[in-house]
Amino acid sequence: MGVRGFVKDAVSGAALSNVSIVVAGIRHDLTTFRHHNYADMELFLRKYSSEFSSITHLYSIGRSVQDRELYVMIISDNPNVHEHGEPEFKYVGNMHGNEVVGRELLLNLIEYLCRNYGTDPEVTQLVNSTRIHIMPSMNPDGYEVAMEGKRNIYGGRNNSNDYDLNRNFPDQFVTITEPRQPETIAVMGWLKSTPFVLSANLHGGSLVVNYPFDDDKEGLSHYSRSPDDETFKQVAKAYSQENPLMYKGHPCNDLDPEDYFEDGITNGANWYTVPGGMQDWNYVNTNCFEVTIELGCVKYPLAKELPKYWEQNWRALLQFMHQVHTGIKGTVSDQDKVGIPNATISVGVIDHNITTGHTGDYWRLLVPGTYAVTASADGYKPLTTYATVSKDQAEVVDFRLTRLNSENTGHASTVPQLTRSPSDRKLSSLIKELSLDQGLEQLVKSTATDNSFRYRRPKDLEAFLRGLTLNFPQITSLHK
Ligand SMILES: [Zn+2]
Repeated sequence: MGVRGFVKDAVSGAALSNVSIVVAGIRHDLTTFRHHNYADMELFLRKYSSEFSSITHLYSIGRSVQDRELYVMIISDNPNVHEHGEPEFKYVGNMHGNEVVGRELLLNLIEYLCRNYGTDPEVTQLVNSTRIHIMPSMNPDGYEVAMEGKRNIYGGRNNSNDYDLNRNFPDQFVTITEPRQPETIAVMGWLKSTPFVLSANLHGGSLVVNYPFDDDKEGLSHYSRSPDDETFKQVAKAYSQENPLMYKGHPCNDLDPEDYFEDGITNGANWYTVPGGMQDWNYVNTNCFEVTIELGCVKYPLAKELPKYWEQNWRALLQFMHQVHTGIKGTVSDQDKVGIPNATISVGVIDHNITTGHTGDYWRLLVPGTYAVTASADGYKPLTTYATVSKDQAEVVDFRLTRLNSENTGHASTVPQLTRSPSDRKLSSLIKELSLDQGLEQLVKSTATDNSFRYRRPKDLEAFLRGLTLNFPQITSLHK
């Protein structure tokens, strides 16, 4: 069934290879449907970052316990810098090393964005207006010991010190006693250095989008509402609605017959409690809203199944990214139009503030409605305005704040001192936290390093050579 035929050059009539066939909006020109081990993934990322150097930037946020790089690929029109007013978005995959679908989908997504930039209007607009950070693997060590074809066994889930990274973040309700792992510390430093707005963490083992909170004071499994419950439901549904099987809400009937998720989404703690999870840490400690997406019942499917996962998720992956352009956004500046960093944006009765970036820009995700929005900053008069949010695009709300001492310049000491803003306190507590467990050392090491020049073990060498032939088939061949 279906259509078949040849694509020929219009002039010479010669058959062409490597062309894009578009069927009802689905592009079939992806070439990467296979499992990528570390060496293969590394080569894939290097290949795309050099082939599409004007819209990509490959960097590492640190290293795993076994010294593998934690790679991130940025895709944007100006990939090397944060552009004022352009939101930062991230996808993180393979935090549990044996849950591999997210890792492969993110590599597919890199290829899709790179190859369709400049020709596909949706991709072009997304890449031009968003700084997209893609981390295919947060647990590369676990991946190397996990096994293909395994539905639900745990080999490779944890990092190589045998800690579950999604139970390893500081928790708002309970004290996490397990030592903080290098992968966790690297991600915490990364989030503090980049003003992320929206994120998803890709897992496997079920089929649902899970949103904060993941636990509560009592440690019981029941609905644990965050102040932004409505917004989380909206962004979660933006994903699930584009994955028809997920949206039906009966994920893995033979494995967990009781599971039913209305519209394919669930509050985390209402499903089961996860103390020390990454999504809650994102929301509680940074400006970033994160959800956790379960991509399927089989954690490590056979490679031949991978095209099916891409077909089921590519629309959803794009639709979720569009959500970063909803709510309100703008700039907080002073009378001289200079942006005010670290100003606070508070919205009506929602008990969750957002802070501005280095140049005074901010993003505040919200569901449609009319809100009282207040901007405040140390030494300035707070300013409140009303904004109406629609569903389709972010509403621009700029603030121009006046100094408290503008009438009596030179008498600053008579001005009442405001207490430090919550974000100041959060930052100092992070610095304290990073000072423990070699956290600072890890942060210093976490700048991108070039590991092209290093000794490789025989097994690694073989994987590297195999990766070369897979990524560069036209110019390499491997012989024993
Ligand atoms: Zn998982």
